[in-house]
Amino acid sequence: MATRTDEARWQAVQTRDRESDGKFVFAVSSTGVYCRPSCPSKRPRRDNVTFYRLPKEAESAGFRACLRCRPQSLSGSPQQELVKAICRYIEQHLDEPVTLAQLGAEFRQSPFHLQRTFKAVLGITPKDYANSCRMNDFRQNLKAGHSVTRAMHDAGYSSTSRLYSRTASELGMDPAKYRRGAIAAPIRYTCADSPLGRILIATTDKGICSIKFADSDEELEQGLKQEFPFASRRRDDEGMAELAATLMQHMRGLEPAKTLPLDIQATAFQRRVWTYLQSIKLGETRSYSDVAKAIKHPSAVRAVAHACATNPVAVAIPCHRVVRSNGELGGYRWGLDRKKTLLDMEAAGAAAGR
Ligand SMILES: [Zn+2]
Repeated sequence: MATRTDEARWQAVQTRDRESDGKFVFAVSSTGVYCRPSCPSKRPRRDNVTFYRLPKEAESAGFRACLRCRPQSLSGSPQQELVKAICRYIEQHLDEPVTLAQLGAEFRQSPFHLQRTFKAVLGITPKDYANSCRMNDFRQNLKAGHSVTRAMHDAGYSSTSRLYSRTASELGMDPAKYRRGAIAAPIRYTCADSPLGRILIATTDKGICSIKFADSDEELEQGLKQEFPFASRRRDDEGMAELAATLMQHMRGLEPAKTLPLDIQATAFQRRVWTYLQSIKLGETRSYSDVAKAIKHPSAVRAVAHACATNPVAVAIPCHRVVRSNGELGGYRWGLDRKKTLLDMEAAGAAAGR
């Protein structure tokens, strides 16, 4: 017999009420599937529907979880859960090419829709994700001492030329970044005024994981979301005021930036570049080729530039202190105006401290 609660639940199902997600699930006897209230699938007939408070109750009654709305997980949006599941699937199938059509069939979505959702959450395509995982495995295998051929095979590369074309273009890129994005770590962040416009500083419990600049807080928060899509992100202006103040001091050239605790992931190559950058003294600059020589990779000038461009913590790792050999400023992820202002402030700070 239907209770009044059940009537309210049925109402929520009919209106696909997101607020009811996590409060109950509904199981459909004609399909054997259970869903969260907001599931976008076609509404079932009322007399086929049974309500359960918890996903595991529906499961012990013999229903399986809907692949579209992923009702098992009560936290996170269905899109995020879907993308997480796709990531896990890709990671388990690195030894074969996984096509969009295959993913679509596996997750019961149109390939187009699946790719769009994936990109909206992670900022890259499923194919990019697979490539970055392969690249990461390849590096791990090499580090473990396997030969290139063996490492390549184990990482799911089918031909040598394909690997080398990728290695060249991806040297210095950090595939671990995408993996880390999939980790649901708690992150606190603050947005503040800085001499370079609005700044966002984000931290895990281990240290600073991201420093960005932008014209608006909205843009900053969007960037953080793309970098750590699965992390819980909590704004904490008050709790982080002191850290923000310290960073402003660094920006004005009053203290060496090195003392800030960082929590970032890097490839071995990025780590060498970034560590070297931290040794460049306040008020000084180096050229990209100086850096390449200093880390004993004299021909890797472009890879050095790429490592500078992928620095996740602006200012704290002073990638702005690298300029072109001819004295031009070179590039800066946060804009050349910001790079110039920063260098001018540091030169003034260094002069004052002398
Ligand atoms: Zn569903």
